[in-house]
Amino acid sequence: MSKTLFEKIAARELPAQIVYEDDRVIAFRDIKPVAPVHVLIVPKKPIPRISEAAPQDEALLSHLLSKAAEVAGTLGLNNSGYRLVINNGPDGGETVPHLHCHIIGGRHMGWPPG
Ligand code: 5GP
Repeated sequence: MSKTLFEKIAARELPAQIVYEDDRVIAFRDIKPVAPVHVLIVPKKPIPRISEAAPQDEALLSHLLSKAAEVAGTLGLNNSGYRLVINNGPDGGETVPHLHCHIIGGRHMGWPPG
């Protein structure tokens, strides 16, 4: 099977500004940021989207979320706050079919989202 866009970034086949990496996840700056801080944190396992995660992915999903919070902290967002977003499927606005969590901060965000 061909690699996803984000697998290619993790394999250094495509450039990205990597801000965190371990054996299970990688975090890098979004190419088209919607806020002063916009980072994607991605499991290296190419789960297409959260709705397709399997029960055996539970520990990985937990790791993804706790590392998202840790990375947000290292990016200086703990005091001002931030938003974690996972887009799933067409109505969710998903454009890259490899599960990822957006870490967005550095400006105030409204609710509900658009
Ligand atoms: P989605 O819409 O699927 O939730 O988010 C996909 C995100 O990936 C978008 O915010 C988009 O800007 C980002 N993106 C798409 N292609 C690239 C790329 O080649 N490099 C990086 N760093 N981000 C990308």
